[in-house]
Amino acid sequence: MIYLDNAATTKMFEEGADLYKQYACHSFFNPSAGYSQSSSIKKELDNTRQKILSILGVREGTVIFTGGATESNNLAIMGSKRNGKYEYIFSVGSHPSVYNVAKELERLGHVVHWLNLRDDGQVNYVELEKLLNDKTRLISIEHVSNETGAINDIKRIASMRDVLAKNALIHVDGVQSFCKLNFSLEKIKIDFYTFSAHKFHGPKGVGGLYVKNLNTIKSIVFGGGQEDGYRSGTENVGGILAMGYAIGKIEVLRNFEHVSLLNSRMKEILSADSHIHVNNFEGSPYILSVWFENVNGETLMRALADEEVIVGTGSACSSKKAGNRVLENIGFKKDQIKSHLRISFNAQLTVEEVEKAGKIIVEIYNNIRERVL
Ligand code: PMP
Repeated sequence: MIYLDNAATTKMFEEGADLYKQYACHSFFNPSAGYSQSSSIKKELDNTRQKILSILGVREGTVIFTGGATESNNLAIMGSKRNGKYEYIFSVGSHPSVYNVAKELERLGHVVHWLNLRDDGQVNYVELEKLLNDKTRLISIEHVSNETGAINDIKRIASMRDVLAKNALIHVDGVQSFCKLNFSLEKIKIDFYTFSAHKFHGPKGVGGLYVKNLNTIKSIVFGGGQEDGYRSGTENVGGILAMGYAIGKIEVLRNFEHVSLLNSRMKEILSADSHIHVNNFEGSPYILSVWFENVNGETLMRALADEEVIVGTGSACSSKKAGNRVLENIGFKKDQIKSHLRISFNAQLTVEEVEKAGKIIVEIYNNIRERVL
C-alpha cells in the first residue's frame, strides 16, 4: 500500500507504540497518586510539556494535554469567550472543530465575524484589518489549511492585532503545521496553539493546547482538577509519552526538504496530463490539492484504494457532508470541487513510492475518464 492521506492521520512510530504499551501494562500508575512511582510519571509528563514548549520556541506559557485537537480548539475558543460586548473573528476555511464552535458562539448570541479566503487559499488580511477593534476578543486562524495546504501568515496577523486590537487573543490551529513547518512562536506573539499527535506519527485521541497566559482561559471540563484544573480527567500517560517520542524523533527541516521533493515529483507527474490540474496554493509541501476533469473525486479515490493507493477527498471529518466549504469560498466551481482529491505526504515515503503512486493515479484516472466520456 502507498498511503497518501497523511493529513487525515499518520501511521504511529512502532517505538512510540512500544512505549505506549510500557506505560499501559507496566508503569501504568496514575500520575496524580502520592507514591514515588506516580511522581516519576508526572515528571515525565512535565518533561514532554517542556519538549513541546521548546519545539514551539517559547519560554513563556504552558501546555495543557487534551484528547486531541478538536478538544484543544474547543478549549481555546469556549474557554476564552467572555460575556459582554466582545467580537470574535474566524476564517471560513477553518476545520470543522473550529468552524462549528464558532457557529455555536453565534447561536449563543455572540458577535462572530467571518474572514473569506483569497485565491491562494490564505485568509483575506484586508478584511481582517477592517474587522479588528478594541472589542475583538479572539481571532482564530488555521496555520496550515487541512484542505489546501495554504499557509496563513500568523506573524502578519499578530502584528495587525498589536496595532489595531490590543486586547484580542490569537488562537492558531496548528494541527497541519506542528512538527512539519519550521517556525518559532518566540517571534510570533500568539496566545493559543493547537496540536494533535496522530498527525505526526503519534497516537490518536491525544494532543494539546499551548497557552501563553492561563488567566485568559477557563476550563470547559470539570472534575478532579488535573492539568492545573484546566482539563480534568486522568492524563493519557502512554499517549502523551508516545507523542513526546514522536516529537523527539522528527527532524522538521530534513523532513520538510524531503517532502518538498516528494511533492514536486508528484506535481510533475500529474501535471504532465493536461486534464489533471494541480492547484497552485504554494503552501505546505505536505498537502497537494488536485482536480481531475470529468471524473468524480470519490469514484477515483475508491478505484485507487482498490489499487492500494490511498488518497483523500478532503477533510475526513467533513467527508460525509456535501460540497466543500473551503474550496467553494476560494472560488472553485462545483464540478472542480466534485472532482477534487487531496494527496498528503509523510517523510517516510520514498521518491520511488511517490512516483509509482503518481503513475497509478494518472492511469486509473484515464481508465475512468475513457469510460465516462
Ligand atoms: N484541525 C485541523 C486543521 C485538522 O486537520 C484536524 C484533523 N483533521 C483537526 C483540527 C482535528 O483533530 P483531531 O482529530 O485530533 O480532533
